[in-house]
Amino acid sequence: MNNEKQTIHEFDLNIIYDFFSKTERQGPGSPEETLKALGFIDGLTEKSKIADIGCGTGGQTMVLGENTSCEIIGVDTWHDFINQFNQNAQIKNLQDRVKGIVGNMENLPFQEGEFDLIWSEGAIYNIGFERGLNEWRKFLKQGGYIAVTENTWFTEERPAEIQEFWQKIYPEIDTIPNKVAQMQKAGYLPVATYVLPETIWTDYYTWQTLRRESFLKKYSGNNTIEEFVASMRYEAELFYKYKAYYGYMFYIGKKI
Ligand code: SAH
Repeated sequence: MNNEKQTIHEFDLNIIYDFFSKTERQGPGSPEETLKALGFIDGLTEKSKIADIGCGTGGQTMVLGENTSCEIIGVDTWHDFINQFNQNAQIKNLQDRVKGIVGNMENLPFQEGEFDLIWSEGAIYNIGFERGLNEWRKFLKQGGYIAVTENTWFTEERPAEIQEFWQKIYPEIDTIPNKVAQMQKAGYLPVATYVLPETIWTDYYTWQTLRRESFLKKYSGNNTIEEFVASMRYEAELFYKYKAYYGYMFYIGKKI
């Protein structure tokens, strides 16, 4: 890779893209869990509109596309992910009503009240759970739904090592009652809150382990890559050690 003219930030993004683009999903999740969450959403018709924010290459978006008749817009900051998203939509013959656009979740190019459903798997942490719930609410119709996944503490207390790790990476990580209270305070009826199965992480980390091997070979001797890979490995190790204390949750709310 020729990175002479790139900033370190752009270079890092390209590495991450290279690592994650060859997978169906870029975060923990599965088609079964997407479908289960979709089961809580009432009243979708072919006139309904869905936004999938931080859609990546669209693993979950295509599941929504195949299991609803709605128009769906996927948004991601990353051009390459959106290109792959639109190719995936074409492969699945969903391109007429499932489209990916480049955009920023902090400044979405949507109209007020445009959507019946806002979806976001493994991505709302980029803006922060509470801020995302508050800022995206205006894009929903009255009675519209929001469905997001979010890393959450399962217990009131936890060992210092894992507390410090997540506190540094994502200070907004919090307990289930606190997250539900934030959802309610933001103006949603908390319709469903449940824990995603451990396998969404173990599958994700198993895939990462396999990918890391070929990746390290490809970029052998590159310090940035080695650090990137080491940080992912550490996150996975902590997960296996402390999975009783945290995990991904689905939070589904209805705009009231
Ligand atoms: N929802 C997908 C991708 C999750 S990874 C899945 O579950 O597989 C998180 C995604 O959020 C990445 O694709 C990343 O490019 C995107 N992202 C990060 N910051 C963003 C922002 N400010 N606006 C929109 N997308 C963003």
